[in-house]
Amino acid sequence: MNAPRNPAIHPKLTDALRIAVTRKAADARALLAQALAEFGDRLAFANSLGAEDVAITHLACSAHLPLETFLLDTGRLPAETYSLLARLEARYKTRFKLYFPDAGAVEAFVAAHGIDAFFESVELRRACCRVRKLEPLKRALTGKQAWITGLRAAQSPTRDGLATREWDEANGLVKFNPLADWSEAEVWAYIRMNDVPYNTLHERFYPSIGCAPCTRAISLGEELRAGRWWWEAPQSKECGLHAKT
Ligand code: SF4
Repeated sequence: MNAPRNPAIHPKLTDALRIAVTRKAADARALLAQALAEFGDRLAFANSLGAEDVAITHLACSAHLPLETFLLDTGRLPAETYSLLARLEARYKTRFKLYFPDAGAVEAFVAAHGIDAFFESVELRRACCRVRKLEPLKRALTGKQAWITGLRAAQSPTRDGLATREWDEANGLVKFNPLADWSEAEVWAYIRMNDVPYNTLHERFYPSIGCAPCTRAISLGEELRAGRWWWEAPQSKECGLHAKT
């Protein structure tokens, strides 16, 4: 029996949707170009290879915008994500910069708390995210004055009211969210219209993909990030990369 197809990632490409997406893509590309003109090599794109991030990759690469792009390799990413990374690098003839966690810090954390400590408490989950994501992010952003993310306001209650340009107090940087006002259907329409490579887990009802043990598929009616740290309350479901402190 064939696996069910995820309808959310196969939106009907009506003329109205195509027109809306083409307009939003032009706006997003203009924002990227403007960010690059303003910040140059002090700007970096944090690419987690989600649907929004592959859309931004295409927006930038198809316009030959030389965006420095990095990925945080936590060491716990799904195999499908590494496969996507290779496909993107081949398609766009580029190389992403990978940041890995400090080996000693991971060894100490696992020795103290176990390999899957994140299931035990929000504190331990945040501690794991600190070691595997936040510390590498800090290194990735050293010397930067601005960064680009694929956040969208509609993704979760914690992202309500997101602007395309905002001050990121936690990191002391300007943050650009070029897809802030895009809907999920618009992101997928853009991916389909441009045949952009994407993570095959999306076909299996994973709208938001992070580390393998902390991500599951969602069911009909669940909010988009319900599959991330599904054992926690919605308000705690951020890894700290986009904290509003
Ligand atoms: S998402 Fe899970 S495995 Fe990945 S860094 Fe956070 S707690 Fe650790």
